[in-house]
Amino acid sequence: MNVIFLGPNGAGKGTQAKLLQEREGLPQVSTGDILRRAMADPDSPLGTTARRFINRGELVPDDVMIEIIEARLREPDTTRGFVLDGFPRTIAQARALDDLLQAAGHAVDAVVYFEARPDTIVRRLSGRRLCRAAGHIYHVEFQPPVVEGRCDIDGSELYQREDDREETVRHRLSVYRRRTEPLVDYYRSRGILETIDAEADVEEVYRALTEILAARTR
Ligand code: AMP
Repeated sequence: MNVIFLGPNGAGKGTQAKLLQEREGLPQVSTGDILRRAMADPDSPLGTTARRFINRGELVPDDVMIEIIEARLREPDTTRGFVLDGFPRTIAQARALDDLLQAAGHAVDAVVYFEARPDTIVRRLSGRRLCRAAGHIYHVEFQPPVVEGRCDIDGSELYQREDDREETVRHRLSVYRRRTEPLVDYYRSRGILETIDAEADVEEVYRALTEILAARTR
């Protein structure tokens, strides 16, 4: 099953995609994680490009992103399905994805739209922490680790993303509204859009999500 997670930053897409991967074995393809890994390597040309855009809360250009996703979807773990978390973010990316999947005899099966209010998003993002080793996600208030500052799963250090500072978060939200929100109608008009109330807690959202996906595969 090929699924897209759509919705503003901080709506919980990454958290849910990681759970689906752990519990159902559906690989999470997170373009944000791919870019952050490149940024952690001082010799990576992709990392240098990505840093320029990400730290300002801007989108990385479409041609760069399309190339990344083409390469990632060629890897064998995605042939039986995947969750795209953070891609597509523009209409041009959505069209390129359609072409890519069509050429391989596949299609997008479902798009899950995570709906959340702006104040929820700002609260979630400003308390969000990630682990250095694998990007496991925590929240200082809502989902603290057992040992402060350390990942429960792999023990690596937790850090705050530079683009999770409040001012950058607000800018990212306005970019989201302008560039990414039009994708809601793009997929709704095809009858594959499902909306989830992303205000609920992690396990409640996960339950709703698995129900939606089960109904779509029936
Ligand atoms: P995320 O972890 O999904 O919030 O992504 C972090 C940042 O990476 C975004 O704010 C963008 O700057 C960049 N990024 C990730 N995915 C994309 C994409 N599909 N198109 C453009 N920029 C992206």
